[in-house]
This record gives sequence, C-alpha cells and structure tokens, in this order.
Amino acid sequence: MKDEFEKTLMAGSTAQVTILGLPSDKYSSFLRGAADGPPAVREVLFSPAGNLWTEGGVDLGANGNLSDLGDVELTDDMDHFKRIEGSVKLLTTLGKKPIFLGGDHYITWPIISTLSRSHPGLTILHFDAHPDLYNEFDGKKESHATPFARIMEKRHARRLLQVGVRGITGHLREQARRFGVDIFEMRYLVEKPDLRLSGDVYISFDLDVLDPAHAPGVSHHEAGGMTVRHALSIIQSIDPKRAPIVGADVVELNPSRDVSGITAAAAAKIVKEIAGKMLESMKR
Ligand code: MN
Ligand code: MN
Repeated sequence: MKDEFEKTLMAGSTAQVTILGLPSDKYSSFLRGAADGPPAVREVLFSPAGNLWTEGGVDLGANGNLSDLGDVELTDDMDHFKRIEGSVKLLTTLGKKPIFLGGDHYITWPIISTLSRSHPGLTILHFDAHPDLYNEFDGKKESHATPFARIMEKRHARRLLQVGVRGITGHLREQARRFGVDIFEMRYLVEKPDLRLSGDVYISFDLDVLDPAHAPGVSHHEAGGMTVRHALSIIQSIDPKRAPIVGADVVELNPSRDVSGITAAAAAKIVKEIAGKMLESMKR
C-alpha cells in the first residue's frame, strides 16, 4: 500500500504513540458522517487554545512522544477491511502504539483481526451505549453494529468488557451470554467499576457512550449516558504496568451533528488521556 500514510511513516517518525485516521463510514446503519471525524479531533487536539499535557503530567508535545500520520484513504469503492489491515500491520511491524480515529465502529473489526496476531490474549475495554454484538444488522454481517460479534466468534480477544451500555435488545443479551461478554450496564455503573484488567489491553471508545448532553456529535443519541469526567476517571484508573494499553480507537464522531465542537473536544481529551497511559506503560 503506497500512499501518503506509508510515505509519512517511512520518512521516519520516532514517536511511539501514533495517531492514524480511518475515515470509513460506509458501514454506518442510520446516518453517514463519521468519516469526517478525524480532522475534527485533530483540530482540537493540536489547537493553540489548549496544550498537549495530560492531567497525569505527561507532555505529549515532547519530542518522540506522539506523532500524527494523517488519514488512510478510504473511498467507498475500496476494500476497507484490506486497507485497514494493511495499515495496522505496518504500524505493529514498526512497534508503534496506535490510536485510530474513526470513522464508524466497523473499523474495530479489521483492527482487532490484525492486532490480535501480534497480541494474542487481548483484553478489549469497550466504551459504548451499545454492545455492537448483532450477528447481522439490516441483513449485513459487516456493519458498525456487528464488529464485536465478528471479533468474539473468531476468538480474537480473551476478554471483552463493555462499559456504559444502555441500548440493548434481547438478541444482544443472548449474544453477550453466548460470547461470555462482561457488560457493565450504565444503569448499575459505579464511579470506579472493578474491571480487574490484566495483560495487554485495547481500548475501543464509541463516543455515544457519553450522554448526548456531553457529546451530541454522534449518529445515535442514547440519553442517560456517562459524563466525560466519568469516562476519563475510568481510563485514568487503569494500572499501566499490570494492564499495558497496546492500542485504541476513538470512533463515531459525526461532526455534522456536533454543537460548537463539544464532542470533538471530548474526543480529543479522551485521545490525550489514552496516549498518556500508553506512554506510562512504556516507561520503566
Ligand atoms: Mn459502537
Ligand atoms: Mn454506540
């Protein structure tokens, strides 16, 4: 795959935590627009209105900490699975810790399918209003409503924990039982849930886990969700030595639904704190 992304990567970024945009929304079920997510997150992340320090004291702006490789080109006529697989392979071969910017939640399927080869026994910490465990949705196996069914039926993860779920059907509960998914439903969620994380962790963060009052810029508004602070404190509670974060995605930002860029601001904050945890887990 010779495109802008590969050229930039080969040009030699030394940073270990690497942002890559995957602007794919052809597998969205209700509204498109998530493909416009990556530039909206970057605009906030690198805005002179803020800085690149995490709350825990990591300077992401320091040399070698964070790089941004731009977006992988993903037009509708392309095979998104193959394109995403190729990008993930390249990043893992070079030892990068990737943070992917969606795009809709479909992207997590090709990402984990690829990443699980170099990281067997992965634990996925999945923030979402929805379990995304449909066997098929609208008659399709490939959808942003199905990635975790694909991941679990192929046993690409040792453990799947879902936090903040509140849009769940009978079929989805059945699927969760079938795959042994640990669901921390929003209605029972305590301030600091005991997630018992150990081993390599991948964080998949669907922005619709946040209450629409905090994050209106998503395609599916599901009221009764998390505050940004609550999501941050769960991420910050991860012990980076016991449960190193080896990759992450932040998905489903739909800028056409956003108000004053507040969802993009939440997404950028989540990206920063995840990147900080990744760097902490790499320090001796
Ligand atoms: Mn989702
Ligand atoms: Mn969702």
